[in-house]
Amino acid sequence: MFQALDAQGHLHHLLTDPLPQGEVFFCPACHQLLILKSGPKVRPHFAHQADQACDFISLNEGAEHLNLKAKLFSWAQQSERVSVEVANSAEGLVSDLLLSDNLALEVQCSPLGQDEFEKRDQAYQHLGIPVVWLLGSRHFLKRRLTVLQRNSLQFSPTCGYFFWNLDLENEIVILHYLLHQDLHGACQGLVKTFPFFRESLREVLRWPYQQRHVFSFQGKLDLHFPSYLARELRYRNPYWVEQQFQAYQKGDNLLTRTLADWYPQIFPVKVRNRHRPQSACEREYEEQFIAFYAQERNIHSQVLYSPFYYRMWKRENNRE
Ligand SMILES: [Zn+2]
Repeated sequence: MFQALDAQGHLHHLLTDPLPQGEVFFCPACHQLLILKSGPKVRPHFAHQADQACDFISLNEGAEHLNLKAKLFSWAQQSERVSVEVANSAEGLVSDLLLSDNLALEVQCSPLGQDEFEKRDQAYQHLGIPVVWLLGSRHFLKRRLTVLQRNSLQFSPTCGYFFWNLDLENEIVILHYLLHQDLHGACQGLVKTFPFFRESLREVLRWPYQQRHVFSFQGKLDLHFPSYLARELRYRNPYWVEQQFQAYQKGDNLLTRTLADWYPQIFPVKVRNRHRPQSACEREYEEQFIAFYAQERNIHSQVLYSPFYYRMWKRENNRE
């Protein structure tokens, strides 16, 4: 953490003030003694002693988290008021960064359990402050979306479902957008990067909401899916065994399905966060998405579009 109280109750801010000399420091949230630390890879910061529990701030804050917070702080500061480590004791919450008192940023580098995520997410809902989750290198997008990535999803009519990664090493913000899931559970979508400090941080975070044109990409399909499925069932892949079991209960059998029956192969990702119910806009998107591919004739190709493309298609269709 970058802020601490001294014995006189003055707040020291390591990102804006000169390094304090030889004083005793206390945690602004829990008032326990803090140690001033610094090293070759990490800027000066305060830390709790190893055996002291603090309900507010993670005890072993890593270098990546500290450095990202400091970077985002000076970046945001170029264009607006920004506070770091903003404690809200009523909600038991410390926001990593707060921009102009109306947008919270959570920089998540360590693992985060579902309970802790939901606790923090609900606290922001109580406070009525929107929060953007920015995920560090441990949470870079690989083949499938993780639970935390799913939790962090946002939605816009042009970018569909999207989430953010922070790449400290290359000093870029990475936007993963128009996110979809294929039959193998793999994630397919588009990527855009924004170098730190080039435009304002606020502008970057607004980007997915400010686009006005349709994005699209050619989905990667598995044209041999029925034989893949047969093999997976033979090897008792638990996911497909369960799907087959459910199909049986409806009098269906997945093995009799043809490639055409598996079309469309790619769907919008499913949001995991049960405290954030799907908006009307998202529900509409799913319905229009299904209707659009139901009339598609070429099952060997699937182009994925921005959600509002399907809405325009629906409108045009209804007019006929
Ligand atoms: Zn504390």
